Amino acid sequence: MNPKLVVGNWKMNGRLADNRARVGALRGSVPEGVEVAVCAPFPYLAQLADLVAGSRLEYGAQDVSEFADGACTGQVSAGMLGDFGCRYVIVGHSERRSLAGEDDATVARKAAAALDAGIVPIACIGETAEERDADRVEAVLRRQLDALDCASLASRLDSIVLAYEPVWAIGTGRVATPAQVSQVLALVRAWLAERVARPERVRILYGGSVRAENAAALFDLQDADGALVGGASLDAEEFAAICRAA
Ligand code: 13P
Repeated sequence: MNPKLVVGNWKMNGRLADNRARVGALRGSVPEGVEVAVCAPFPYLAQLADLVAGSRLEYGAQDVSEFADGACTGQVSAGMLGDFGCRYVIVGHSERRSLAGEDDATVARKAAAALDAGIVPIACIGETAEERDADRVEAVLRRQLDALDCASLASRLDSIVLAYEPVWAIGTGRVATPAQVSQVLALVRAWLAERVARPERVRILYGGSVRAENAAALFDLQDADGALVGGASLDAEEFAAICRAA
């Protein structure tokens, strides 16, 4: 069985003092056999490198450029993230897809750029409420997944982490039911089984209103290898409780 992976996505939150307090509280709270990472906004990566030093806590970024270093004003390359010791980078979060117009192909290029730099991409997929209501969950997820099965990634699909985040569950307090999550995770695992030799080794996370009180039920699901946690990751005590449930 994969060690569980719990990733906190701080989104656009944090200040030097908040981060110091939050990581200070978390440093000693990584349970044995669980991997825990926090993904911070770019300006705080150097601070995180210092704050997590000597602990089992890992850190990552929330986005990365699809391009190598060069004339891309405002972007941050995977090489730069690697320079800061990032272990993970979230790609294709639904907020990037909706706010920055990222499409499936862009997300795949970002995942490939991360792998090229030795960083593990956490590729997010998930349907909107409208797509679920229209019974299009499987079609949407297949489209998002198939885009990852491209020339630059196909042989490396076993090196990425996938995160199922139904858009309607993000920041809404409306967590997907275990049955809904199980169904999608099984679909993702089956998709992997057609493409990688050891599909069970690829970690699939669930994200969307994960809290201390619902985490254990989610972690118990057969194909759930961890969680991508937004709001609750800003509260060190609650995030530590989620990690303990893993
Ligand atoms: P919430 O946990 O706040 O619903 O956010 C989930 C998420 O978007 C993590 O990437």
